[in-house]
Amino acid sequence: MLIDGKQISQSLKDEMKVEVENLEKQYGRRPCLMVIIVGDNPASRSYVRGKIKATEYVGMDGHLIELPEDCSEERLLQEIETLNQDQKVDGILVQLPLPKHISEDKVIAAIAAEKDVDGFHPENVARLWLNQPCILPCTPKGILVLLDKAGVEIAGKKAVVVGRSNIVGKPVAKLLLDRNATVTIAHSRTKDLPAVCREADILVAAVGRPQMITADYVKEGAAVIDVGINRVDGHLVGDVDFESVAPKAGAITPVPGGVGPMTITMLMQNTIESYKLRVRKPFGL
Ligand code: NDP
Repeated sequence: MLIDGKQISQSLKDEMKVEVENLEKQYGRRPCLMVIIVGDNPASRSYVRGKIKATEYVGMDGHLIELPEDCSEERLLQEIETLNQDQKVDGILVQLPLPKHISEDKVIAAIAAEKDVDGFHPENVARLWLNQPCILPCTPKGILVLLDKAGVEIAGKKAVVVGRSNIVGKPVAKLLLDRNATVTIAHSRTKDLPAVCREADILVAAVGRPQMITADYVKEGAAVIDVGINRVDGHLVGDVDFESVAPKAGAITPVPGGVGPMTITMLMQNTIESYKLRVRKPFGL
């Protein structure tokens, strides 16, 4: 079964469009996402375009703040503080990576936790690991939605996540654990990775190595989620070798059109959730 992230994401955005219309009628303003980009990285530019386009589609306010490559850390922190204070701003996203002279940790920590719609703020990360209400990071959240929409059973299953980054590997492992999977996190020092992966009923590849996961890594009938976005000769390819793995997998996400569109859709969802908390509790959390 092909898990069609593009189609799932489209139908979720259509639902959000209706919800946003109703929210605007009820509370007199639309949810608002502010995206900050520093510099001219082409991949980052294309990601932020996709995010702003999605806000337009669901009928939210979406604004891009463009800062030059040589923008100082102080200036960026000031911009963030202004947005933190603005009661009409529900979500703040600073597109990563940032130029070397700016500390990403400092910038992420400067965003008000309740407007951190990427879910990267230390407070949101801590809350996730403590099972407290928080804003979930978009890609891991989207992966869980894909598994649910595809009807993949999670409880009691063996899940292997290849990759241990803070933005994908670790949080997706935690979400799978919360859903009662037995989770293994594999990485570059894992011994006999193919054998570890072959144990998986659910295999999540978040490695950043084009087509590394071949049929040899996959158990017959496993659900395979390919998070990888790699540019090879001008084409996008995943971390999974789709051609060899698809016939063996029970369910699989394509690249493009799998996890990628879900990430943006979950960003819209996080912004709407943050908006709802703000309009219902106007004096902050
Ligand atoms: P990182 O580079 O931060 O992490 C990669 C992880 O893969 C590391 O934990 C690393 O292990 C592990 N790894 C690298 N090589 C191997 C190997 N040979 N065998 C086993 N493990 C290995 O990447 P991200 O988590 O940020 O992203 C992963 C991929 O997902 C990228 O292609 C990225 O573009 C994509 N991505 C896609 C998104 C989407 O919306 N679809 C969103 C975010 C990312 P170690 O820790 O030991 O170094």
